Amino acid sequence: MDRDYHVHSSYSDGRFLFQMVRAAADAGLDGVGIADHCNVSDREEMTEQKHLLGFNLDQTYERRRQAIDRLAEESDIDIYDGVEMDYHPDEEGAIADFLDDADFDYTLGAIDHVETVNVHVEAYFGSKDESERERIVDDYFDRLVALVESELFDVAAHPDVIERNPALRGLATDDHYERAAAAFADSRTLPELNAGRALAEYGEFHPTPDFLNALADRDVPVVVGTDAHKPGEVGERVRHLERYLDKRNLQPVDPMVE
Ligand SMILES: [Zn+2]
Repeated sequence: MDRDYHVHSSYSDGRFLFQMVRAAADAGLDGVGIADHCNVSDREEMTEQKHLLGFNLDQTYERRRQAIDRLAEESDIDIYDGVEMDYHPDEEGAIADFLDDADFDYTLGAIDHVETVNVHVEAYFGSKDESERERIVDDYFDRLVALVESELFDVAAHPDVIERNPALRGLATDDHYERAAAAFADSRTLPELNAGRALAEYGEFHPTPDFLNALADRDVPVVVGTDAHKPGEVGERVRHLERYLDKRNLQPVDPMVE
């Protein structure tokens, strides 16, 4: 792996741009993609996220772009102007308009909410009984297939992000993986191999090995991302990803040439 396409900066919930770029250079990479969280939604949970967390890349991407250009002048590695865009099936028009205007180097699409709640919130999903949690996982995969079929994005970020939540983990079925893999095979959108929780409690990459097998059966390549938010996370996740790519005999691809 010589490029990481999923790093956050302080334009969303990561550290300063220069720190993240320096960490990528120190990790031996030739390029790093800055993919900050962004949404153009008027769903209440998303406007609340903007206000509570200050996720305002829809307003600040131009100044971030200037900063990236300036850092690129003094950096030995390539820096890409990416985005991790919130996806909702009802908002495809607004997302398309924004992405057309903003013209990022490449785009990640992400689904972080089901039933208006962030998928990371364990207490909310843990309070539901198993059949409800299964239905939620089913809804999640419907949304993932819609994201892939929308062709709005170069990459689908952490395509089974629900696995991060112990209350939703292990409920996805081969049928979900087959449906999602078939959608990827027919779309320009590529799945991300994401290391966001691979060295944490979850201990696996996204997608799970079974999901990755379904993708490999259809010759769908992956884009790699550490999902690092702190400089110290970049190098260790790059090395962990490299070992896994080696083990799976995978060659990651560049989302900007696909
Ligand atoms: Zn991310």
